Formats: sequence, structure tokens, C-alpha cells
Amino acid sequence: MADETNLVKCENCGQEVPKEDAFHEGDQLICEECYLDKHQKIKACDPWGVHSKKVLRERAGQEGTEGLTDLQKRIYELIVSRNGATQTEIVRELEISPNELQNQIAILRHCELLKGQNRDGVVYVVPFDA
Ligand SMILES: [Zn+2]
Repeated sequence: MADETNLVKCENCGQEVPKEDAFHEGDQLICEECYLDKHQKIKACDPWGVHSKKVLRERAGQEGTEGLTDLQKRIYELIVSRNGATQTEIVRELEISPNELQNQIAILRHCELLKGQNRDGVVYVVPFDA
């Protein structure tokens, strides 16, 4: 039952998602899929569309960030360089807004480059294969 407290219901499609995967959109709490749908940012990941996870994992270093914007690369490289960072840390170090960061992380997560990880109650953004 304890797990249920970490789930929220997407107000758009109704699926239950972990709290840290939900996005605030105006008054609504929505899941990542609906968020990306709304913002149509998924297209940023098209270069990755044809690759399977396995292929992505076999790619290393610079090649892994091919097709990303400079900002996305900076975020990705920051996180990889220290094997995970909180959103607060990233916002501070890269001097971007929390909203902008959340947008970028959503894209990077969709590209399977990053993911959220709960460390003692603090959500870190970590490399996807961490
Ligand atoms: Zn949804």
C-alpha cells in the first residue's frame, strides 16, 4: 500500500504514474506522455526513433549525445560527469529556469539518456543506464 502514495493519476489520460514523473500543466497534473504530446517536443528525439535500447547502450561518449541541442548536451554531460544531480543543482549550475530544465529532462528521458532515481527520498536525475 505504501507505493500508492507515490502514484498520481494523470488528469489527461487517467494512467497512474510515479509522482516524480508527473508534470504540472496549469492546474493539471499530467503524465510525461501527455506532457510531451502537448508540447510536441517528442520530435526532438526523431534521430533516436529507429534505434533500440540495446543499440543506444552500445553507443558511447560523444556519439550518445548526437542530435541533441547544446543545452541538452550540457545537461546530459553535467549529469554524467557526476553520476547524477538534483534538478536544483542543475538549475543553479547551468543558470536556466526550472521549467526549462524540466522540459529538457523530459526530452532526454524520452531519448533514454536520462532517468529519475530516488536516493533516500531525494530525486536525482541520473544517466539512463545508471
Ligand atoms: Zn497522461
